[in-house]
Amino acid sequence: MRPLAILGGTFDPVHVAHLAVAWEAAELLDAEVRLVPASIPPHRPPPIADATTRVAMLRAALRGQPRLTLDTRELARGGPSYTVDTLADLRAEEGDRPIVLLLGADAFAGLPGWHRWRALFETAHIGVLSRPGVTRGWPAELAAEIAGRHVADPRQLHARPAGQVIELEVTPLEISATRIRDLLAAGREPRYLLPDGLFDAPALLAPYRQRHPQEPR
Ligand code: ATP
Repeated sequence: MRPLAILGGTFDPVHVAHLAVAWEAAELLDAEVRLVPASIPPHRPPPIADATTRVAMLRAALRGQPRLTLDTRELARGGPSYTVDTLADLRAEEGDRPIVLLLGADAFAGLPGWHRWRALFETAHIGVLSRPGVTRGWPAELAAEIAGRHVADPRQLHARPAGQVIELEVTPLEISATRIRDLLAAGREPRYLLPDGLFDAPALLAPYRQRHPQEPR
């Protein structure tokens, strides 16, 4: 069965590397990929842009292509966004369909800090997306948990609903939302690092521009 893959994140803001790696994962896994914005991310400071603005940016970013879609269930649920709960919801909807949780290598390395992280493997496969600057020295407890779960061929994920780990080599793009927030706060216009649609509605990027108002000229 064709897998369902999800890429969670704060998307504060969504940038072109999110889209590129999600698209490449869709191709490599032959999967439907959904972007799932978190409402209150439990592992990090609150986002600068509110949920409505982050969703509006995602909608603008995803316009005009068929393969990546948006799933706002974590925003509807409110409270902290625990991935284990999101995956339980999806599992109830999808039956035995393979589900793949996509994580950038930085997020994957931090997995042992997540709520009920070992339970994630009962509900989903994990696809680790390579990310520039992150090397593969996983923490010992993570390395122990994934030993025996590795597969190299994406087709092996199609045969089971959950429990395996695949490392996906995607095009290295050294782009982060942190860097983009800093550029916007400094009064820069990070065109081509952000999807074009984000520049069409000035209100979308306003929360980042207002963070450190520029001195009057
Ligand atoms: P921030 O700089 O605010 O931490 P970010 O750019 O890492 O943000 P997130 O919304 O936290 O963006 O990321 C969502 C998911 O996308 C995470 O799993 C993250 O690892 C992955 N991701 C983000 N940017 C890249 C990239 N350039 N290459 C590979 N994976 C990425």
